[in-house]
Amino acid sequence: MQSPITGYHQDELGDWVAQLACGHHQHVRHHPPWTERPWVVTPQGRQAMIGHRLDCKKCESGAPPDPRPV
Ligand SMILES: [Zn+2]
Repeated sequence: MQSPITGYHQDELGDWVAQLACGHHQHVRHHPPWTERPWVVTPQGRQAMIGHRLDCKKCESGAPPDPRPV
């Protein structure tokens, strides 16, 4: 299932985590050359991806919503 990005936070390692409308979280790492997401390292890039839909594997597996950090 696809779910739009509604916001972001950073995990304890400083990696960016997208918050999805379905209530799940998904890492959106920029670790070249394995994972190329140059947009995630700038505030403008992250803002531009708000509303972009990501495949949510947690929805497909019926996982409960992730706790939203404060
Ligand atoms: Zn989900």
